[in-house]
Amino acid sequence: MLANYGYTDGSGEYFITVDTDKCVECEGRPCAGACPAGVIEIITDDYDDQVCAVRDEHRKQIKYSCAPCKPASGWKTLPCTDACPHDALTHSW
Ligand code: SF4
Ligand code: SF4
Repeated sequence: MLANYGYTDGSGEYFITVDTDKCVECEGRPCAGACPAGVIEIITDDYDDQVCAVRDEHRKQIKYSCAPCKPASGWKTLPCTDACPHDALTHSW
């Protein structure tokens, strides 16, 4: 399942999408530990599986929470996506 966390405002679309099917068998689930801002957490979903999610308190301010990883000069890699061995995490911006 694709889980989308984020919002749209006048400046653009800011979503982190998690392909949670890939999280179910993920060893160690390293994404959460790799995020320096505590944006990512591991939760138990409705199917009793352990999957990656964006913490509630960051969902409406994700553009700002992720800003330190995304300098105005541009970015090529991100700690969260780099850490994921299954390419389960994508950012819309
Ligand atoms: S590292 Fe990737 S596959 Fe593993 S739990 Fe995190 S997002 Fe899911
Ligand atoms: S871009 Fe940075 S702050 Fe945002 S979720 Fe990824 S590691 Fe965390």
